[in-house]
Amino acid sequence: MLYTQKPFKWVEGPIHVLGVDITHDKQELLALNFNAVLKKVDNVIDAWNNRQLSLEGKIVTVNVLMSSQFVYKLACLNSPAKDICDKYRQKITGYIWEGKTPKIAFSKLTCNREQGGLKLVDLLKKDRSMKIKWISRLKNSESLANIAYYFLPDIGEKVWECNLHPNDVPIILTKESFWRDVLTAWCHHNYECKTDLNAVLKSVIWFNSDILVNRKPIFYKKWFQKGIVYIKDLVDDNYNFLTYNALCIKYNLNVPFTSYWGIIDAIDNKLKGVLKGKINPGKAYTCNYEKMLHKQLGSRFYYMEFIKDEQPTSDMAEKWGNMLNRNIPRDEICKILKNIKITTLSTKLRSFQLRLLHCAITTNEKLFKWKILDSDKCTFCNISVETVIHLIWECPVAKHIWNQIETWVKNRSNRTLNIRLENIVFCKFAPKPLDWVNTLCLTTTQYLYSCRCLKVIPNFACLKQTFLDMHSLEKYIAIKNNKLKKHEIKWNNFKI
Ligand SMILES: [Zn+2]
Repeated sequence: MLYTQKPFKWVEGPIHVLGVDITHDKQELLALNFNAVLKKVDNVIDAWNNRQLSLEGKIVTVNVLMSSQFVYKLACLNSPAKDICDKYRQKITGYIWEGKTPKIAFSKLTCNREQGGLKLVDLLKKDRSMKIKWISRLKNSESLANIAYYFLPDIGEKVWECNLHPNDVPIILTKESFWRDVLTAWCHHNYECKTDLNAVLKSVIWFNSDILVNRKPIFYKKWFQKGIVYIKDLVDDNYNFLTYNALCIKYNLNVPFTSYWGIIDAIDNKLKGVLKGKINPGKAYTCNYEKMLHKQLGSRFYYMEFIKDEQPTSDMAEKWGNMLNRNIPRDEICKILKNIKITTLSTKLRSFQLRLLHCAITTNEKLFKWKILDSDKCTFCNISVETVIHLIWECPVAKHIWNQIETWVKNRSNRTLNIRLENIVFCKFAPKPLDWVNTLCLTTTQYLYSCRCLKVIPNFACLKQTFLDMHSLEKYIAIKNNKLKKHEIKWNNFKI
């Protein structure tokens, strides 16, 4: 069904649907609304600031107590202005990193665990995914659709098939409205560079950011009504553009020939190249709008798409590949990241491992580079430069601790550990992540780092106690969560 007819009644009628059109006064109201949320966020931060939570713990508080306040409103109000989003981001970044420079970028923290993040909610992307949800609602409610398409471009339902760049939305819809936000959100997901022949043929000509006349996407209503919608409507069986006469006859159209050649001229060369090459037909093309309706995709799907970012893991794979002198595939890094959660129940240890993998732990080498310290020498031996690898592995002090660990585990549980740098960094003394020796590995690395921060020499007796405490802590959490069985499998051959 095409909703090209504008509903007339609505204009005088009351506003029933939230956020339909926002007049100046309402804009202010909206700002007030979001500012009130920001105030609430401040209160939550005040209440939680001094509790010394781990990185992971802090992110849980942000997601559960702070972002949720916004998310509730985003579902039915216009998108918050950029300054509100910026302020919010500043506040939570300050809270997470205790006012210091962030060690891991915000965009990395918003990723999934296996991509090196901690699922920190990205408000902007959350907003987009929730706005997109409205598009399928329009399909199911005619009254809602009547209102929505009044504010959307004349092309009606086909608007969701247009390959429009989000930056071009304000050119088409100059007035701010809830439905403009919905269209912008959709364009963030939908706009793509088409390289397959089938995809190009099924590109809508109108409101297409790859077909610009005077730098603007175009829409010729008369042409559209005659059935000229897709690029395939302009070409013959051999994918050559129709002549002007052929076009006029085929569609019974009476338009100046300049406007036809104007359109052909405006089609981006990339698209023309695909048509000319006739290669790479690609799969049968289904547009994103059809996919959404067919698969009944919800806002969660779109949020996951928005946060899909492969950069953090490829950065990590490259960095550690250089340091460990071997090629590390991205998949391996993803697996390691995923295993962190299984290795230990302690959020403090998990956060440490994540920071280690991101190379986001502070060493004297970095502090010296940043001109905060006068020397880059190791805190323990004061001989070599204190790099991450030196601190946890190469330093004689660290080596001594690892030797003691090896003997201790051998004597107590009769297990031989394969202690080498790679196994320490990736925390895999045992192949299965659910094994207490991996927790021991992580506890030791974290202990070495905390000794460095406190400027004390590591001591095996202390480390042993820390590890026994960790064992008790895990047992306590397991009992509380009713997961004692899993706990016992993990600590199977551990003898205190
Ligand atoms: Zn050293």
